[in-house]
Amino acid sequence: MSIEQPLTELKGVGPALAEKLAKLGLHTVQDLLFHLPLRYEDRTRVTPVAQVRVGMPAQVEATVVDSRVELGRKRSLLVRVRDDSGEIGLRFYYFTAQQKNRFSPGRKFLCYGEARLGRSGLEMYHPETTQVDELKPAEMEQRLTPIYPTTEGLMQKRLRDLCQQALTLMRRYPIKDWLPQELRSHYQMPELNAALDYLHHPPVGANVTALAESRHPNQQRLVAEELLAHHLSLLQLRQEVQSQPAPALRAGVLQQRFIEQLPFALTGAQKRVIGEIEQDVRAMVPMLRLVQGDVGSGKTVVAAASALCAIEAGHQAALMAPTEILSEQHYKTLSQWLEPLGVSVVWLNGKLKASERQKVLDAISSGAAQLAIGTHALFQDQVEFARLGLAIIDEQHRFGVHQRLSLREKGARSGQAPHQLIMTATPIPRTLAMSAYADLDTSVIDELPPGRTPVVTAVIPDIKRDDVVERVRKVCLEGRQAYWVCTLIEESEVLQCQAAEATAANLAEALPDLRVGLVHGRMKAAEKTAVMDDFKHNRLHLLVATTVIEVGVDVPNASLMIIENPERLGLAQLHQLRGRVGRGSHESYCVLMYHPPLSLAGKARMQVMRDSNDGFVIAEKDLEIRGPGEVLGTRQTGLIQFRIADLQRDRQWLPVVKEMALSVIDQPDVTEALIRRWIGHRALYGKV
Ligand code: ADP
Ligand code: MG
Repeated sequence: MSIEQPLTELKGVGPALAEKLAKLGLHTVQDLLFHLPLRYEDRTRVTPVAQVRVGMPAQVEATVVDSRVELGRKRSLLVRVRDDSGEIGLRFYYFTAQQKNRFSPGRKFLCYGEARLGRSGLEMYHPETTQVDELKPAEMEQRLTPIYPTTEGLMQKRLRDLCQQALTLMRRYPIKDWLPQELRSHYQMPELNAALDYLHHPPVGANVTALAESRHPNQQRLVAEELLAHHLSLLQLRQEVQSQPAPALRAGVLQQRFIEQLPFALTGAQKRVIGEIEQDVRAMVPMLRLVQGDVGSGKTVVAAASALCAIEAGHQAALMAPTEILSEQHYKTLSQWLEPLGVSVVWLNGKLKASERQKVLDAISSGAAQLAIGTHALFQDQVEFARLGLAIIDEQHRFGVHQRLSLREKGARSGQAPHQLIMTATPIPRTLAMSAYADLDTSVIDELPPGRTPVVTAVIPDIKRDDVVERVRKVCLEGRQAYWVCTLIEESEVLQCQAAEATAANLAEALPDLRVGLVHGRMKAAEKTAVMDDFKHNRLHLLVATTVIEVGVDVPNASLMIIENPERLGLAQLHQLRGRVGRGSHESYCVLMYHPPLSLAGKARMQVMRDSNDGFVIAEKDLEIRGPGEVLGTRQTGLIQFRIADLQRDRQWLPVVKEMALSVIDQPDVTEALIRRWIGHRALYGKV
């Protein structure tokens, strides 16, 4: 017997129940012990019926007076019960005949629930009821009652009973507490078994407010442990990647010539970050570096300078972008910069005919192509690199870590793993970066090229649409260009594109003197490119787009952006979009044209956009308003999922955890055990 045995060893757990438990990620007794209550109910005392108030959870001990089925808009069972102080109703919308018969007059029940004002006065809706002896006072719970996260067809009572069995086992076979004693005493953390025991049934008088907020020392101790486990798993990934050798790369004359021929001087921040990258790639250990730089901070130059380190050393570089449009833009920029230096640049894209595609693939696998640009298709199985030395991933937040890790194999033929450079324009709040990217070193381009004027942002209700359209006309007739971004609520891409088409048609009609273009996700790649090209070369005044233009499009002459229904987007996305203007020397504007009324959170977001142009400030606010899961796009990428920790609430642990991890990472048994305990069967990075 041990705490890691399967749940089927517990009394009453057959295959059917085991399957339900598995849905909750519960496989072993230990898993169950770490399945912590969401909240608690106080069933340790009885409230006289007369003292029950609306909205107050309470337990009453009362005798059935009457029970009947009421037919209203919805059929329901109403049971009237009373004690010495008064009478109250119990209302059930779902009930069986058996349940109905159970409430026969004269029987006494303990009922726990929350009272509301119903048709018959004060009523408890679907209370939990336990029949008790009519002649004796009912026995109370001695401890708070835990309410667990559960799944369909699994009753709280059942879960509670299983947890009690698990706790009994735990007392006989204690769980190993891996947190070092001195650490626990330093942070006054309770011992693991004691903490778990407490949390599954806290005593009367426990600090329920702290428990409800997950700030109780017994919870915080587990929070710290969970954060530690995640941190360790990321460090472990890093170690795995870095256990392979990488080619030593070095900057030389090519890079020097490249920098000299640029029409501008590098900013101090660009120079510093290029230096940090050079430092990394010089070693024969794969670089794992994240470069954060606000939109327009000039990451592409940094990518090019880094690629040249690989190319000059006789290796290949790859640049992966999140969308085809962006990969094309990179291809154009980089081939313009690098081909004059004699570098061969290829673009792997969806438009290529089979024979052309084969040519590109051959160039990549023979090593003739020195820089390959594409979307994640670049790292699919058929693409073989001769000597991949550096992989650059632009706008990383759209890729999961697992995708990055698959890069390792791309170096397989040469026996060396490529260096990895990840670039993101979504500034990641420091706390999150520390935790979600513990496997990466970070560099920040914290300076914009000179001469940029901050974008002025206005928040305007859509009843003023006509004024906004007029503004577009004026700006465009002055020689500037504008974007009109449609953010649509429909889930279906078809509907979204239809709506964007309608908007473009309306605007073309309202602005007969302007040339209006349209891009959306369902157009063919060639069509999209043609429209973007027209816009870039000032053959279009106004570009109507769905959010496909979000990343990377660079048209310095565009100085006005209208975002329709900005309240539907998160702050990070709004900031990205707004970054498309303010790239030239003209005063630029962003109009957030919302549909009233705005929710409170919507108002808060608009306020942030109006007040700040700083991606880091916006990211911090985003984190406050939306929480870490949304900010990191957890749902899309399965980036991090915590059981009890919350990066925002528990941020004070992050520096501590980082230090703890360093003292533990060299003990493989501890590291393994913690990772298995907290991350276990769930793949850390989820499945896409
Ligand atoms: P992002 O960081 O958003 O990817 P880009 O690399 O697209 O930014 O650069 C935005 C614009 O700024 C481009 O037109 C680029 O040529 C220009 N740029 C980059 N670095 C500098 C610099 N040091 N001085 C002036 N302009 C620069
Ligand atoms: Mg970019």
